[in-house]
Amino acid sequence: MALLDIITIPDHHLRLPSRPVSEITPELKKFAADMAETMYAAPGVGLAAAQVAVPLQVITIDVSSGEKPDSLLTLFNAKIVENSGRTKYEEGCLSIPGVSAEVERFSKVVVEYMDIEGKQHRLEAEGLLAITLQHEIDHQLGKLFIDYLQPKQRAKLLRESREFMHEESLKAHLEAEKQAGK
Ligand code: ZN
Repeated sequence: MALLDIITIPDHHLRLPSRPVSEITPELKKFAADMAETMYAAPGVGLAAAQVAVPLQVITIDVSSGEKPDSLLTLFNAKIVENSGRTKYEEGCLSIPGVSAEVERFSKVVVEYMDIEGKQHRLEAEGLLAITLQHEIDHQLGKLFIDYLQPKQRAKLLRESREFMHEESLKAHLEAEKQAGK
């Protein structure tokens, strides 16, 4: 397995719609395993293939953050077929590092998807799983959680995230120089 590079804003790949998967090939299985490893390493509770610049409908989710065994979900061609209720949750995104904001979403969703063996499933979800499913399925549509915010709040968050990424790269640069003994 290998870690994949998670792209961040303003990478245009984040805005492209993802294509459905027609068949689960060995390559696709390996890609999904790499996605899960990348998600756990980040760490995050969900990752969409669009976030590693692959425009395919592949999502990995583990709302237990790897705490509970067998709680990894790998979803191909996931789509929401039913929804109900409203709820608010403080969301963040691996592609918009260092910031979070409260977003309003459906409190319950029913999602249809294909698993890694090619079997069709119907999943009823609520709580954090329902939120994460909506967030990741949005990625498949080229949509980000900041799109739900007012323009002013969105601009502020984007600015803060850019500053965060700048500081992080500066830190990494200094660390590398220290390692090199300069
Ligand atoms: Zn995200």
